[in-house]
Amino acid sequence: MKRTDLINRLRVAGYHDDQAALVRLYTENRIRYDKAIRTFDEGKRLRRSGVRCDCYECRREAHAPPQGYGILGAAAWERGES
Ligand SMILES: [Zn+2]
Repeated sequence: MKRTDLINRLRVAGYHDDQAALVRLYTENRIRYDKAIRTFDEGKRLRRSGVRCDCYECRREAHAPPQGYGILGAAAWERGES
C-alpha cells in the first residue's frame, strides 16, 4: 500500500471510529504506532469539526459528490499538499 493511501485509510478509520481497521492497518503496514494513532485521531477531530467524509463508502451513499472536498482533500490541504 502506498504511504498516502495508508494515511488516508487511517484517517477515514478514525473518522468512522473503526478500531478494527486501525489495528488491521497498523499490523499489515509499516508505520510507527504513534503515527498511526495520531492519524486516526486526526480523522476523529475532522468529524467533530464537521468536515464531510469523502471515503469511497460515504461518497457512494451520498450519490458521489465530487472527490477531494471532504476529509481526504481537507487533510491534504492542511498539510499544504493540496
Ligand atoms: Zn467515510
